[in-house]
Amino acid sequence: MDKKIKYTLLAALGAAAAAVPVKATLFKPEKVEVPPMEDEKVDLNRFRKNLSDAIKFKTIADKEAANTDWTVFDAFHDFLKERYPLMHEKLELTVIARGSLVFRWKGTRSDLDPIALLSHQDVVPISEGTLDDWKHDPFEGVDDGEFIWGRGALDMKNHLIGVLESVETLLSEGFVPERDVYILLGHNEEVMCATSENGATCICNYLKEKGVHLDAIIDEGGAILPVEVKGVINKHLAGIGVAEKGYADVEVAVTAKGGHSSQAPNHTAIGHLADVIKDIENHQFKAKMSPMMRELFDKIGRNCTYPARLVTCNLKLLEPALTKAMSFIPPAASMLRTTFGITMASGSPQANVLPQRASVTVNFRMFPGQTVDDVLEHLHKVIKNKKVEINLLPGWKNPSAVSPTDTRSFKVIEKICHSMDDKAVVAPYLVMGGTDACHYQAVCENIYRYSPFLVSTSLLLTTHGTNERIPVSVMEDAVKFFKRYIRLASAE
Ligand SMILES: [Zn+2]
Repeated sequence: MDKKIKYTLLAALGAAAAAVPVKATLFKPEKVEVPPMEDEKVDLNRFRKNLSDAIKFKTIADKEAANTDWTVFDAFHDFLKERYPLMHEKLELTVIARGSLVFRWKGTRSDLDPIALLSHQDVVPISEGTLDDWKHDPFEGVDDGEFIWGRGALDMKNHLIGVLESVETLLSEGFVPERDVYILLGHNEEVMCATSENGATCICNYLKEKGVHLDAIIDEGGAILPVEVKGVINKHLAGIGVAEKGYADVEVAVTAKGGHSSQAPNHTAIGHLADVIKDIENHQFKAKMSPMMRELFDKIGRNCTYPARLVTCNLKLLEPALTKAMSFIPPAASMLRTTFGITMASGSPQANVLPQRASVTVNFRMFPGQTVDDVLEHLHKVIKNKKVEINLLPGWKNPSAVSPTDTRSFKVIEKICHSMDDKAVVAPYLVMGGTDACHYQAVCENIYRYSPFLVSTSLLLTTHGTNERIPVSVMEDAVKFFKRYIRLASAE
C-alpha cells in the first residue's frame, strides 16, 4: 500500500477510535414506512422468451441516420407489436426521428404531470477480434436456464422488455393509471450523433412542443449491487443515479519548426509537449465530498453492523481523511471530482522527420457543478507554456443537474425496493457514463437512473464487453418493480 494512503487511513482509524459508542447505537437506518402492496403477477416465461428474441435483432445505430440499417429497427418494432398486442392497442404510438418510439398511456387525470419510463433500443457492436471469446453468439439470445446471453442482455434490452412486460400485464389486469404514463424508447443512445438526429432530444422537443412537463423519469444507470464485507455489511445497494458526469475531449498542441532529424534541436515539439503533459497531470481537480456522496455514505454507514458503525457514525469527522484516501484510488476519486486522462498522442509522421506539431488529447469527465468552460480555464491556468494551442473537440456535454431525493417519485422507488427486499439500501449516486435521460432536462427535474436488476459487479462489467448476460433469477423481481412503480408513481 502507498505510504500516503496508509497514513491517511491510519488517521481515519485513529479518529474513529474516539467515536462514542452511544452514537453508533443510535446511528441506524431511517425507517421507511412501506404500505402493504399486492403481490404482482409476472409471466416469467414470456419475459425470458421475449428478451431472448429481442437480443436477436442487431439494433446497432450509426452516428449518421443515413447509415443506420433501418430495416432492423423496423423489424424490431414489428416484433414489439406482435409480442405486446395490448400495449399497441391501448396506448397511443408516435414515431420520432425515424426510429424512436413514444407510447402515451392515457390516465384518468391527464391534468397532472405524467411520468415516463425510458429505455434505448440500440446496442453497441461487438469489438473487433473478440467474437471468438463469447461463449454463445452475442446475437442469438441463448437462454441456458441460468443466464440469457447476448449484446443488450444488461444494456438495456432487459430493462426495455421488462418495462413492456409490466405494461402488458397491467393492461391485461385492467389497470388504468391516474397520471398519463409515457414509455419512451430512444434508438441511438450509444452513438454520439448530431443533436438534430438524437432520438432522446427529438422526443424531448416533441414533448415540449406539446406542453408536456414530466413529473418523473426513470431510465437506466443504477442497479442493485450486493455489498458484502464480512462482519461489516451484508446488504443490497439500490443505487439511484441522480446525476451524470459531463464529457469533453480537449486537444493540446505545441508547434515547432520541424525539419530534418539529423539536425534536431535539444527539444523538439514533443519535448516541449512533455512539459505540458507534466503540467496537466500534476494538477488534478480538487476532490470534494458532495451532498449526494454524503447521503450515499450516510445510508451505507447506517446499514453497517454495530462495531463498524463505531467508525461510520463519525463520517463528518472522518470526511477530510476519507476524501483524501479516496482521491488516491481512481474509481473512488471519480465519484468526488472532475477526472481526466491523456488518451491520445501524435507527432511527426515519420521517424526521420522533426514534428512541426505535436499534440495530445485529454479526455475529461466533469463533476456536476463544473462545466466545459471550467475545464478550459483550468488548462489555461496550469499549463506554463503560453504558446500552447488548446482546442475543445466536438461531442462534449456538460454534466447533468442533480435530481432531488426528497420527491414523491424517489420515495416511491425507495418504498418499492424495501417492499421487495429486506436487505435493500436505497441511496443516490453519480452515474459515470451517459444516458438518454440527460436529454430530458428541459421537461423534467426528477430524473432517476435505475435498473431494478440485482447484478454482481463482475457481471455488470460485461456491459459493452464480452459475454454480456443476465441471470434469469433476477428477472421476475424487475417486472414486479416496474408494475409497482407504474401503479404508485402514476397515482396522484
Ligand atoms: Zn445503455
